[in-house]
Amino acid sequence: MKNMENNSDRRQFLKVTTMGIASLAAGGLLRSAHGEEGKSQGESSASNNPAGTKVELLFLGTGAANWPKKYPPLNQKLSRGEVRGMSSMLVNGHILIDCGPTVLDVMKRYDANTADITDILLTHTHPDHLHADNILAIANSRDAGLGPLRFWGDPEALKQVPDSDRIEKRPVEIERPFDIDGLKITGLASNHHVDASNETCLIYLIESGATSVLYATDAAWLLTRTSIYLRKKQLDAIIWDATMGEGQGDPRIFSHNDLTMIRHMNQTLASQKVLKPDAKIILTHLAKGLHPSHEELEKRLLPEGLIPAYDGMSVVLDKG
Ligand SMILES: [Zn+2]
Ligand SMILES: [Zn+2]
Repeated sequence: MKNMENNSDRRQFLKVTTMGIASLAAGGLLRSAHGEEGKSQGESSASNNPAGTKVELLFLGTGAANWPKKYPPLNQKLSRGEVRGMSSMLVNGHILIDCGPTVLDVMKRYDANTADITDILLTHTHPDHLHADNILAIANSRDAGLGPLRFWGDPEALKQVPDSDRIEKRPVEIERPFDIDGLKITGLASNHHVDASNETCLIYLIESGATSVLYATDAAWLLTRTSIYLRKKQLDAIIWDATMGEGQGDPRIFSHNDLTMIRHMNQTLASQKVLKPDAKIILTHLAKGLHPSHEELEKRLLPEGLIPAYDGMSVVLDKG
């Protein structure tokens, strides 16, 4: 991320401090999405975040498993959402959620540096989220003096993560928060399943002081126990599995969301005050062929407060 200043045109920032669904409806976010670009990595690091309330999210893949596993070469110019890597997200420049087959190429394109990654959080072991060679490449790119890469996941899922003295496996216990560099992270059980595995698929709650965000893919709905756990939380952002778009009888409905499900959940979570009034509702894990072009998606969804993510999209949450 060191070359950010030279590549400000590559990344689009949503400065998400005061605008919410209400201003979205008035087009506020649309202006913002195109208005603020290029922010140096240093501004988002925990060490420059003394109040501990700022969370920067960089989407390093927003597609479901049916997108090509090979990402276009760097010299091929891509319009927003034209190609989607396997779903992955970087938090505060150093915590990677999921590490699938496309993540290294997407990182290169958006100037994210593998050597900066201190921790990987795994949601589950489907191959669009877990790629052994890429995990090893990230672990080996770290300065050896900094110690091994920490790799967090369900204990059963961790068995599929390569063994290496550069990787330290850390089992995640459901609903038991742990700390990464001042961020409070909690793995929550997700309604999703990996065949022939006893693992519990996870989604992650990330809290930084008064700021909190839920990364909720892959998942269909929220499990009852997870929805109960979240009742005492107030989210600034939620990132939904939106695999199926408007839906219509797709069999993936038992393990992923369509937009009708997402609308129902938003309404309920808002009425329970789990979503703050200005919470950002972001959609990822979009299946190829089940959504219109990204431009059309934005036109349809932004007015109702749904933000379709795209590879390279950055969101800054700051309640400080
Ligand atoms: Zn997936
Ligand atoms: Zn999956």
